[in-house]
Amino acid sequence: MRSFTYSRAGSAAEAVGRAAAGTAFVAGGTNLLDLMKADVLRPEGLVDISRLPLDRIEETAEGGLRLGALARNADTAYDERVQTRYPMLSKAILAGASAQLRNMATNGGNLLQRTRCYYFYDTATPCNKRQPGSGCGAIGGVNRIHAILGASDQCIAVHPSDLCVALAALEAVVRVTGPDGERSIPFAELHRLPGDRPEIDTVLRPGDLVTAIDLPARGFAEHSTYLKIRDRASYAFALVSVAAGLEMDGDTVRDARLALGGVAHKPWRDPEAEAALIGKPATPDRFRAAARVLLRDAKGHEHNSFKIELAERAIVRALTEAAERKGASRP
Ligand SMILES: Cc1cc2nc3c(=O)[nH]c(=O)nc-3n(C[C@H](O)[C@H](O)[C@H](O)COP(=O)(O)OP(=O)(O)OC[C@H]3O[C@@H](n4cnc5c(N)ncnc54)[C@H](O)[C@@H]3O)c2cc1C
Ligand code: SF4
Repeated sequence: MRSFTYSRAGSAAEAVGRAAAGTAFVAGGTNLLDLMKADVLRPEGLVDISRLPLDRIEETAEGGLRLGALARNADTAYDERVQTRYPMLSKAILAGASAQLRNMATNGGNLLQRTRCYYFYDTATPCNKRQPGSGCGAIGGVNRIHAILGASDQCIAVHPSDLCVALAALEAVVRVTGPDGERSIPFAELHRLPGDRPEIDTVLRPGDLVTAIDLPARGFAEHSTYLKIRDRASYAFALVSVAAGLEMDGDTVRDARLALGGVAHKPWRDPEAEAALIGKPATPDRFRAAARVLLRDAKGHEHNSFKIELAERAIVRALTEAAERKGASRP
């Protein structure tokens, strides 16, 4: 057994002040504690942030919503305003984990959950993300769930979150307070690609506390969906997922957002794929053309090449559903 210190923070400033090297914040604990039990993560100390008053969902002056970092995934998904104005987000959250886990898991923790790569969890195998320089068990190993976009020769892991895929499509902003003060991070910049530093998942700095996630006013409520393709109908991570939001002018696409999950180290968006939809008729052929733009650099490994065609089909299906989804107010 490994010993560690535990303390409960009374304020955000106190939490940041206590976050020394080797410590970790614990919120719902549904990911961090599993990783500690598996001996994958070995923090010397835990700073419990679960009682901080960061659990509210509030209106913003810009007409959007501010989701507290400590609001539970379930409370966020079932919030009337989220369901009505951001149905894609509600649907994404409810596609993840289980009811019990969503009752415990927080929004901040969901953003920062670690990959589900088998080798990352198995301390008997090499993994550059867990132990830099040790190698990658998935390259040349079993890689069915791994990345087809943005991977490196050091790591081919994918980010497992559903919530994050919808936040990427919505262009949310992550609010952070840390040793250097407060700052806002556009969602697209939060997670990073593995490159030659796969052990670093995000641009957060040591001691940074996520306090909230801001949703812009535009939620694509009338024409959006979240489609998750997985091995089981529930309680399984995405092989491929698609968050799609459209603004329609009759049968023509006026604006488009498209993000993919389960395919890369971060939710995958591509402005060129979205541009390929704008001003075009909402037809399967156009959607397929945009999917091919998005997937043009996709590369499979021994066991996951099927994801390339799966992603193309999922994009066409999600965009078709979004285009037809007029006035949908519930996921
Ligand atoms: C069996 C199982 C199935 C699952 N299936 C899915 C799924 O299908 N889809 C999906 O999206 N997720 C899934 N999950 C993951 C689940 O959503 C995450 O475990 C959860 O969201 C993490 O939130 P938490 O509050 O428990 O985080 P914690 O475990 O407390 O923390 C996770 C990480 O975030 C850091 N952290 C937490 N809050 C903050 C903060 N405010 N500021 C800075 N750092 C912070 C912690 O230090 C830690 O590194 C599953 C989990 C399990 C166990
Ligand atoms: S894919 Fe990444 S997380 Fe998985 S074994 Fe390789 S380095 Fe580790």
